Amino acid sequence: MAMLYSESDKTRKESYRVPLFASEEEQIRIPNYKLKDEPIEARIAYQLVKDELMDEGNARQNLATFCQTYMEPEATKLMSETLEKNAVDKSEYPQTAELENKCVNILADLWHAPSAEKYSGTSTVGSSEACMLGGLAMKFRWRKKAEERGLDIAKQRPNLVISSGYQVCWEKFCVYWDVDMRVVPMDEAHLRLDTDKVLDYVDEYTIGIVGILGITYTGEFDDIQALDKIVAGYNKTHDHELVIHIDGASGAMFAPFVEPDLKWDFQLDNVVSINTSGHKYGLVYPGVGWIIWRGEEYLPRELVFDVSYLGGSMPTMAINFSRSASQIIGQYYNFLRYGFSGYKKIHERTRDTALYLAKIVKETGYFDVIHEGANLPIVCYKMKADLDVEWTLYDLADQLLMKGWQVPAYPLPDNLSDTIVQRFVCRADLGYNVAEEFAKDFQEAIHNLEHVRVLYHADKNQGTYGFTH
Ligand SMILES: *Cc1c(COP(=O)(O)O)cnc(C)c1O
Repeated sequence: MAMLYSESDKTRKESYRVPLFASEEEQIRIPNYKLKDEPIEARIAYQLVKDELMDEGNARQNLATFCQTYMEPEATKLMSETLEKNAVDKSEYPQTAELENKCVNILADLWHAPSAEKYSGTSTVGSSEACMLGGLAMKFRWRKKAEERGLDIAKQRPNLVISSGYQVCWEKFCVYWDVDMRVVPMDEAHLRLDTDKVLDYVDEYTIGIVGILGITYTGEFDDIQALDKIVAGYNKTHDHELVIHIDGASGAMFAPFVEPDLKWDFQLDNVVSINTSGHKYGLVYPGVGWIIWRGEEYLPRELVFDVSYLGGSMPTMAINFSRSASQIIGQYYNFLRYGFSGYKKIHERTRDTALYLAKIVKETGYFDVIHEGANLPIVCYKMKADLDVEWTLYDLADQLLMKGWQVPAYPLPDNLSDTIVQRFVCRADLGYNVAEEFAKDFQEAIHNLEHVRVLYHADKNQGTYGFTH
């Protein structure tokens, strides 16, 4: 039956002719925290949401984050065309599952997983989920072995040893799974895990030691080779076996390309698992992470679930269940597109950008550079101690923000919290030409602070400014 047009249809049709910014929806206040009654047109909803996000800064000028802020248009297209695929439905999307499998194998190869042992791994939402799984595997394995040795496991809580440069996900792991976090403090001489002291924190209740490949605060790598040696010595003389998990959230997808001779991965016997964030130097938009165990014995069977699902059976060992597979597909795209030498070229250029910016920072004469981009492409610096200036790093951050640059300033952890540092995270999309623009803005910001009357921060210690993840 044909519909008759009515008066109301006419107005609806005409509404398409109304210019967007003359539309009714642009003239009324949309409720903030409760659902409005009526639907609105898609093109208007699109613009309204875009506009709400307009003033929050340009992601590529956000030098606070390690997370990717650029992918190629083809990657973005591929990812937006695969948003509907659920990564967990491995029996429905077997080809997608195969891409995940390929990524796991590529990473295992990159990290020198020994072929004699049966490695396994999975994608995750990010390193946080991957660290939870790595920590749980160590905890379960420790408990089983401790019971076999006859240790009274009720006597004290198991513990995890890590430097004070840890990322917050390890604090979460310890709280969620009731593990005592034993923190080896960093000091001026050790802006990473102090390998001379690490064994002081270990006992029979230690589930493992976490080595950090890329300390979030400074960009430095823990000395994993030295740690492995110490652990090997301990294991020779103790029944209790120490193992190392590498938190390579940022470094595990950087070091293999830029410092291929550095030994930090499965080439070291006591490194049993490694995690990384695909969305950091894996060059994928958030969120994808990865974890790999070097052999079957390090991933207790209890942590792998066989889920029977729509006619199939699949092993899963993630904490989350449903999520889009598009990030995994994006990771595979990057592996296929760049290959080893593509990643190497991109990362080396990013490191050169960091070294260039560190030089600019040094040349101003105001700063001591703590990390100039030798490990991760991160420039981290503090004000020189004997400077007679009225402004602080927080004022510099404010000045840079006027040009749209987000550059955090924050205190170092624990017993170094009197030291305020500032940090640029250089990423692939900070090309040399953009870095030069940034360098000009940086020099101008300092000139302004020296010569223009501005209100300074009276309190030199302002806490944390911006994200530090
Ligand atoms: C970023 C980071 C994490 C957390 O990773 P997500 O992928 O954001 O969950 C953990 N550890 C380190 C060292 C990091 O740099």
